[in-house]
Amino acid sequence: MSDETTPDDVSVIVVGGGPAGLSAALFTVKNGLETTVFDTDETWMHKAHLFNYLGVGSVGGSEFMATARQQVDDFGVDRRQDEAVTAVSEADDGFVVETSVASETQRADGEAVDADDEHEADFVVLATGANRDLADELGCAFDDDDTVDVGVDMETSVDGAYATGAMVRPEEWQAAISVGDGAAAALNILSTVKGEHYHDFDVPADAERVFGEHVAE
Ligand SMILES: Cc1cc2nc3c(=O)[nH]c(=O)nc-3n(C[C@H](O)[C@H](O)[C@H](O)COP(=O)(O)OP(=O)(O)OC[C@H]3O[C@@H](n4cnc5c(N)ncnc54)[C@H](O)[C@@H]3O)c2cc1C
Repeated sequence: MSDETTPDDVSVIVVGGGPAGLSAALFTVKNGLETTVFDTDETWMHKAHLFNYLGVGSVGGSEFMATARQQVDDFGVDRRQDEAVTAVSEADDGFVVETSVASETQRADGEAVDADDEHEADFVVLATGANRDLADELGCAFDDDDTVDVGVDMETSVDGAYATGAMVRPEEWQAAISVGDGAAAALNILSTVKGEHYHDFDVPADAERVFGEHVAE
């Protein structure tokens, strides 16, 4: 990233669209960073029913995900559902992310032809649940318990690469923890971009400006 970069020029790729990934994406897109999420929809939330998410009495995991997806879509995330990330590598000034989407095109022998693509970003947030393969291939340091080594800001040993959610803990897997991890990663990215500590505080007077006609009457 050059010294003259403004938030408008900064791009973030989030790998994984479960609670951790969508939380990171919500904070980065809401605060002006170009944000893309790749997700294969294998989130554990489809098996869960939440009674332990503070502020939400009871909600099905799939219903929670539908609301979360709508929320990030409303703020302008480029959400690439069913596009799998196959590799993440460091580039001169950021990261290259390779993806593959199963195409409906079929070869003469009946095999499906996958469409591969490459994307670049200044920051990458890994949020692939308990699957840590991409972090390993990127060269992120691991702890002795085989989880990705991060601090409270969720940044890995690779500058600009973050790991969040189930991949950074051996077992303590909860939706609320993943959502917190995603927010922590995003705020650290925003602080880096803005060059000073950043927080995303809104007040009641912002409600109409932010949500417009979505505000409850
Ligand atoms: C049966 C069950 C019940 C549960 N009940 C509760 C509960 O009551 N309360 C609670 O708090 N938690 C519960 N959980 C745990 C909760 O579901 C997880 O903590 C949470 O889903 C973890 O979020 P995450 O974002 O870290 O990972 P995930 O939700 O696993 O999301 C990871 C996402 O990344 C995608 N992905 C992975 N690799 C790639 C790739 N290469 N390219 C693109 N996308 C990729 C996956 O498809 C998936 O959508 C339950 C889990 C299970 C299995």
